[in-house]
Amino acid sequence: MIRTNIDKELIKNVIDLAKEKVKVTFSTMPVKHKIGIGAYALSTVLLCTVLAFTQGAVSTERIMSADAANMTEKNSNFCSLVIDGKPAVVVANEAEAEAVLDAVTLAYQTKGSEIINVAYKETVDIAATTEKGLKPLTVQEAVTTILTGTKEPKTYAVQSGDSFWTIAQKNGMKVSELAAANPNANPDCLKIGTTLNLFEVKPYLHLTLTERLVASEKIEYATSYESTETLYKGETRVKVAGTYGEKQVTKETVKENGVLVSTTEIASAVVSEPVPATVLQGTKSLSSMVGTGSFGSPVARIEISSAYGSRGGGRHTGVDLRNPKGTPIYVVDDGVVTKASYQGSYGNLVIVSHGNGISTYYAHCDTMSVSVGDVVRKGDQIATVGITGRATGYHLHFEVRKDGVVQNPMNYL
Ligand SMILES: [Zn+2]
Repeated sequence: MIRTNIDKELIKNVIDLAKEKVKVTFSTMPVKHKIGIGAYALSTVLLCTVLAFTQGAVSTERIMSADAANMTEKNSNFCSLVIDGKPAVVVANEAEAEAVLDAVTLAYQTKGSEIINVAYKETVDIAATTEKGLKPLTVQEAVTTILTGTKEPKTYAVQSGDSFWTIAQKNGMKVSELAAANPNANPDCLKIGTTLNLFEVKPYLHLTLTERLVASEKIEYATSYESTETLYKGETRVKVAGTYGEKQVTKETVKENGVLVSTTEIASAVVSEPVPATVLQGTKSLSSMVGTGSFGSPVARIEISSAYGSRGGGRHTGVDLRNPKGTPIYVVDDGVVTKASYQGSYGNLVIVSHGNGISTYYAHCDTMSVSVGDVVRKGDQIATVGITGRATGYHLHFEVRKDGVVQNPMNYL
C-alpha cells in the first residue's frame, strides 16, 4: 500500500503548535518574508517546537530568528532541503526546513506511537541557498512535495458515468498512469464522489520509521468440558462462563513510507488473568428422551378457530389456534426435533418426538428456528405462526400423535 494522502491534520498541528508559541500567524510568514514586498520592519522571534527524533523522542525547543528586513533579492537566507545531493525544495529558513522534515515524519507516524528512530534511504542535508529570484515554498507545500513529488496534487472527484478510461481521457493521462496513482482504487467499482489522484506519487524521501506502541490485548480463556447424564447427547450448557484476561503488549514496528515491514513484540505484562470456562456436555441417549408428560401451551393465547374432529365430512387431525403472523410457537414438552421442513398441505412443519410414542406437530409455520436432531426443552421457541401450506388464515395447526395415531390435543393442553 502506498500512502497517497498527505496527513493535513498533522501538518496543521505542527503549524498550530508554532502559532501557540509565538502568537503570530505562522501561515502568513512566507508572505512577510516575500522578496520585493520591501523592507518593512518585521522582526519576529518564532519558537518552533521541534521533536528530536533520537532515542526516547526528546522534545526540544528551538528559537528561530526571522528578520525580514534582512531579506532582499540579492541576499536571501533561504534554505534548500538537499536530497541525494540535489535541492528538492526551498523554504524560507533553516527552522522551516527542519519543520518540513518533522512534518514528513509525523505524516508517517502511527497515532499514539513513540518514535524510536528515523532513517532515510537518501542523504538529507539542509543548505543555505544563494540562488537569486527564488520563491520559497510554505512548509505545507514543501511537505506535500516531499511526500508526493508535487507541490499541488491534483485530484478528481468521480462523477456519474465515469470510468478509469473516461477519467484518464479527460485529464490527458493513460489508464495505466491513473491506476498507478490510485493503487487503492478499484476500477470496477468506482463510487461517485470518490477522490482520485491525478498524479503519480513519487516521494522524494524513503523513510524508515521505527516506532514503539503499547496496546491492550485480550488473553483467551481455556474451556474445559464435563460430561453429564442430566443432558442429552449434543446438548451443552455453560456451567462457568469464561472471562478474557488482559495484557499490555509493547511492540516495535518498522515502516517504510508508511508500509509496515516488521513487528516485534518486545514486552508483555499481564494486567488480569483469564478465568477458564466450564461447559457441560450431555451423554444421555436421545432414544431415551422422554418428556415431562405435562404439556405447556404452544402459543401464548389459545383461540380455537377450528376444533379437532370431524369437519365438513372430513376429519380434522389437530386443533387450529388463530394468531397473528409471526406469533412465537413454543414446544409443549421436552423432546427431539424429528422434522423441520415443508410438507404438502401442512406447509412448514415441525415435528417433535417426546418419547413414550408421543409426538407433536406444528404446521403452517411462517419461520422455523430448529433443525432435525435438535434437543428442545419445554417452552423453547421453535417457530412462528404463518399461513404456509393449505390454510385460509394465520393460525397454528397443532396436532398430537400417540404411536402415530392422532389424538385430541385438547386432552393434553
Ligand atoms: Zn388444522
